[in-house]
Amino acid sequence: MIEFQQVSKTFDNWKAVDDLNLRLNAGDFTVLIGPSGSGKSTTLKMINRLVEHDSGRILFAGKEIRSFKEEDIRRRMGYAIQSIGLFPHWTVEQNIATVPALLKWPKARVAERVTELLTLLNLEPARYRQRYPHQLSGGQQQRVGVARALAADPEVLLMDEPFGALDPVTRSALQAEIARIHKASGKTIVLVTHDIDEALLLADRIVLLDKGRIAQVGTPFEILAHPASDFVTEFVGRSEVGIKLLGLDTVGARVRKGQSATGEPLPISATLREALSAFVARRASSLPVVDAQGQPVGALHFADLLDEQA
Ligand code: ADP
Repeated sequence: MIEFQQVSKTFDNWKAVDDLNLRLNAGDFTVLIGPSGSGKSTTLKMINRLVEHDSGRILFAGKEIRSFKEEDIRRRMGYAIQSIGLFPHWTVEQNIATVPALLKWPKARVAERVTELLTLLNLEPARYRQRYPHQLSGGQQQRVGVARALAADPEVLLMDEPFGALDPVTRSALQAEIARIHKASGKTIVLVTHDIDEALLLADRIVLLDKGRIAQVGTPFEILAHPASDFVTEFVGRSEVGIKLLGLDTVGARVRKGQSATGEPLPISATLREALSAFVARRASSLPVVDAQGQPVGALHFADLLDEQA
């Protein structure tokens, strides 16, 4: 879907991106992560040509990105950023409709799309569509930013620290929404973050950058369990790898079906990390497990958390 072939970008004699070779598969949720200044944003912005690469090739759908018309790139790639960049004197509706308006969609179609997107992002359309950005909370503004990026139903969604400035509760609500949108739409998503927990939660594949070069590419499990270097180990946080690994799997993967146990039940969709907290908080060595409807499924034992991971 998107391929970097020996791509470099230099600013004032500084190699922001240095001989990058990377393939992003269609439908994948890829997270670019790394320390500040490692080249994450530059890599992202080269995809939609907000930054032009100096050398190498960037292919989108098999063609060099430079050969696309700007309008086609705007239509096929949505872009959302941390500072949101909403137009302050435009309503929510006008902001979301930026790309559809550029593409000259008929008014009725635009209105319908705005309603659909506000609903998707849990903002009641009647209440919010005529508001101005300053009449929204930070989290609501972020949602509008994401809605705007999705407006023309792009094939690719590029997000640069979209949840960076949010409080933890709003942040995790928006992360859950993006995960849901990805699952439902199968869109190709590329997200930049410096937060390893966000990367582990959202990514199919993590690309860890260091000084403009790839330190490791892998699934969250591969990055945690098989770090390629000391840098990777340090970056993911040496002391908490075990706990983070538990965050990748759910109770459903380890439940002993049909068994019973006493105590406040665990939802089958909880992560094993959440189960660990529950065992500790409830001082239990086994707990019942229930499905989404609250029906008993079986039991989980504390020892099940210690099983070897695949
Ligand atoms: P990250 O997103 O990982 O924090 P960036 O891709 O923003 O890193 O930046 C990588 C390097 O390139 C940094 O050293 C940064 O200062 C430099 N850089 C990025 N954009 C510009 C620019 N427009 N002009 C000069 N230097 C830049």
